[in-house]
Amino acid sequence: MRAVDLITKKRDGGELSSEEIDAFVRGYVAGEIPDYQAAALCMAIFFRGMTPQETSHLTEAMAFSGTVLDLHDVAPFVVDKHSSGGVGDKTTLVVGPIAASLGLPVGKMSGRGLSFSGGTLDKLESIPGLRTSLTIEEFKRQLRDIGLVVAGQTHELAPADGKLYVLRDATATVPSLPLIASSIMSKKIAAGADAIVLDVKVGHGAFMETEAQALQLAELMVEIGRRLGRAMTAVLGDMSQPLGLAVGNALEVVEAVDTLRGAGPADFRQHCIEIAAEMILIAKMAKSPEVARERAMGSLASGAAWNNFREFVRAQGGDVAAVDNTDLLPRAPFVQPLIAPRSGTVVELDARQVGYAVVELGGGRARKEDPVDPAVGVVLAEDAKVGARVSAGQPLLWVHGRTREAVSGALARLEQAYRLADEPVELRPFVHRIIR
Ligand code: URA
Repeated sequence: MRAVDLITKKRDGGELSSEEIDAFVRGYVAGEIPDYQAAALCMAIFFRGMTPQETSHLTEAMAFSGTVLDLHDVAPFVVDKHSSGGVGDKTTLVVGPIAASLGLPVGKMSGRGLSFSGGTLDKLESIPGLRTSLTIEEFKRQLRDIGLVVAGQTHELAPADGKLYVLRDATATVPSLPLIASSIMSKKIAAGADAIVLDVKVGHGAFMETEAQALQLAELMVEIGRRLGRAMTAVLGDMSQPLGLAVGNALEVVEAVDTLRGAGPADFRQHCIEIAAEMILIAKMAKSPEVARERAMGSLASGAAWNNFREFVRAQGGDVAAVDNTDLLPRAPFVQPLIAPRSGTVVELDARQVGYAVVELGGGRARKEDPVDPAVGVVLAEDAKVGARVSAGQPLLWVHGRTREAVSGALARLEQAYRLADEPVELRPFVHRIIR
């Protein structure tokens, strides 16, 4: 089977068989198929799509490109969650510790920044010393000892996603339903969790811009997971404006720490409670969503989630002093506000523009081998999110940059992210739909 024939078949709108998909994934992981042919296939999939059967085959081929973990020797029931990607989404840093502190083990394989959306691994690695590349033994030991582990793809775990993920990021092939579904679900299957809560984002700050597309993605992933014996829930949530206030690696860690310590922005806290509640419900640790939410809020209020986060940071080699005192996290030398040019209601705050501004500041990657700058990013003003009335001259956000020029460039882009108007705006529902 020649790679070029499979690319041609997909380019011309054909349906790939499971053998063809298997052969491609195996050849790519083994280094026999070069990046340029994998990139061409991703682009063909981007334009031609895949049937649900092809997407299922691709997911399984990617999941089984490495070891598929069985965690039952260290935990009887493990839950995982995954976001389909959004701007300012640092949810894992809060919901992982909430669930683990309630005795619900969380074993999670996360990703790096993709396109305009940040990645949990990059955020965590802004904590000095914290390692996300773990061996299978380390992954299992930590899950057993503290109930929470977050790792990246390795040559052992979902290596096909490891390679395809960075390739897609650099070839403009991220926002493709079959490629997103197979990327997410292959990691989830390989990491061995019994139950998975999907946090599927909808809006211009997400890869699925309409509710119909997000629903299709959610239903497909739920079906793939259930077919492979996993309990599945999907929550469709708004991503038209950034989640919380901080966007950028270390800045998001600060916001997650604030939230774990009982503060943090209201929208982010509410989102974390919803996702944690679904993790508690899927593990049958509460009889109703209300009770599950109360348990999640209790873990934050008692400090149990915060203590678990500290243990997690220590277990993965991170400097606990830097989360106890977040002034010790990387900081950008230049901080400058964006000032409201007029008074009015914020009717639009384009999350995608904010995400791209952070990438351009160095917080994301332009090429797959680029390092990310942990310190840079954007912090929105709490009183200037969508629906708020702002006055001329008031700061809308602050840009944290490495150089004055980088800050000026980001400010010029971010001016375009806001629309201020005289009329009030109807707020979008925070949670659109839940598939249980
Ligand atoms: N998250 C992933 O892991 N993969 C994607 O393709 C998008 C979001």
